[in-house]
Amino acid sequence: LLSKRLEQVGKFVPQNARLADIGSDHAYLPVALMLQHQITYAIAGEVVKGPYQSAKRQVQKNGLSHQIDVRLADGLEAITLADTIEAITIAGMGGTLIRSILENGKQKNRLSHQERLILQPNIGERSLREWLMQNRYEIIDETILEENQKIYEIIVAQPVKEVMSYTQQELLFGPILRQHPSEILCRKWEREATQRQYVLTQLQQASVLNQSKYDATKQELEWIQEELT
Ligand code: SAM
Repeated sequence: LLSKRLEQVGKFVPQNARLADIGSDHAYLPVALMLQHQITYAIAGEVVKGPYQSAKRQVQKNGLSHQIDVRLADGLEAITLADTIEAITIAGMGGTLIRSILENGKQKNRLSHQERLILQPNIGERSLREWLMQNRYEIIDETILEENQKIYEIIVAQPVKEVMSYTQQELLFGPILRQHPSEILCRKWEREATQRQYVLTQLQQASVLNQSKYDATKQELEWIQEELT
């Protein structure tokens, strides 16, 4: 039933957890985890009406309406502290969007800072790791996988008391991922290097050089080249 990507996301959800899946679309993830008795309760949050209705149908079809609440809401407004959520999954969106969902949730007091966060950004992992670091989360696990010619990263974070200090390279490559070099990881960063080389050429050709963007891109390219050797 589940894609390889969502199956991997699900593996990081603790046994018997109360889960909130934000941006749930068809609610495939909470439904699958409930059917395999991995979770005891779930909230499926969706901000768009169409997917919200698909999620409701999927939950009803599987006879899970008592265990999975489907809620129409923006981001973490789907949950309150009274829901005593233990794990939050946010998958299949850009890192910047996931980051803003977490930031808004924090501002609106929807995070107890007890929950495990399981995040699967399609792009923009760096800015997401930065938010985690600044908000007292430790990255406890990461994985990278390929499906339908797309490469996905999954980041698992757990609340901690002290602010973690990750280096710029750890934020970019992932503190855990970079410890386990793999063929997929190399392929991803070869692509990323090519893309940055292209950006540098474009910047050089512009009538006015954007020096700070140029320097930042060049620095990242150097880090990538070091990481690949
Ligand atoms: N999580 C599923 C997955 O990984 O396969 C669905 C991913 S789908 C590409 C992204 C979903 O997030 C869409 O259904 C979209 O409506 C929803 N979404 C986007 N922004 C949201 C927000 N602020 N709050 C709740 N849902 C959101």
